[in-house]
Amino acid sequence: MKILIAVDMEGVTGVVDWSQVIPGSADYPRFRKLMTGDVNAAIAGAFAGGVSSVVVTDGHDSGRNILIEELDSRATLNSGTPSPLSMVQSVDEAQGVMFIGYHARMGAINGILDHTWSDERVSGVWVNERVFGEVGLNGAVCGWFNAPVIMASGDQTLCAEVKDFFGEKIETAQVKKATGRMSAECLPPEQTAKLIEEVARRAVINLRNENAPKPFKVSTPIKLEIEFVQSEMADKASLMPGAQRGRDRRVEFTSDNMATVYQAFRTLVTLAR
Ligand SMILES: [Zn+2]
Repeated sequence: MKILIAVDMEGVTGVVDWSQVIPGSADYPRFRKLMTGDVNAAIAGAFAGGVSSVVVTDGHDSGRNILIEELDSRATLNSGTPSPLSMVQSVDEAQGVMFIGYHARMGAINGILDHTWSDERVSGVWVNERVFGEVGLNGAVCGWFNAPVIMASGDQTLCAEVKDFFGEKIETAQVKKATGRMSAECLPPEQTAKLIEEVARRAVINLRNENAPKPFKVSTPIKLEIEFVQSEMADKASLMPGAQRGRDRRVEFTSDNMATVYQAFRTLVTLAR
């Protein structure tokens, strides 16, 4: 059994501010280390639960955050960008997925650094009229490849969002309690390491016992709508063949293939730069 550990940074232990997750910022080196610690805890739990291999995908910013020299040597690391499946690269080889260091969707209340892909460009995303964040988008790509999301770590709002999308059977490790977009009551790493490891172990056992969430499928045709922050961003994005301008600052794209929708989403947001 192979598990993908898909990692973002905003939901990592102790993170409450952009200055902690942007390469080049003063605090960033400390939080890379904490990010690597959360990932190592998940790897330890996955192996304790009985998986045979683990691939880790660094999905934050340019995918060059996790410290490979400190990574558990039983795992491999997808690093760098762009990769074909971005934040869930290698999901096509995995039987289950863990979301580590994830964050709530743009607009969520009390979600640390809530956003959806780019807070400078994207003000909202809908799939078949339902509001989606990175949880929904990445989870739908996992589902397209028949891999369920079996656990997630982040703040309480992220934990609620994954349950809303994937059902009550998903295991969650709440590493902080957000009291705003940029404030939280945080557990220290010594505690979160134990928590993440135990939750990951349980999630793998659930999966082996066929008691994990089912793969998350969206119904077809899949209609994607992105609302951009500025009108000219929507002007640029709607140049993509197959895309259509919706109302106000929205651009729409429809396909029966979720991997194609994900690729279109990434292309539209890139064009909007
Ligand atoms: Zn991120």
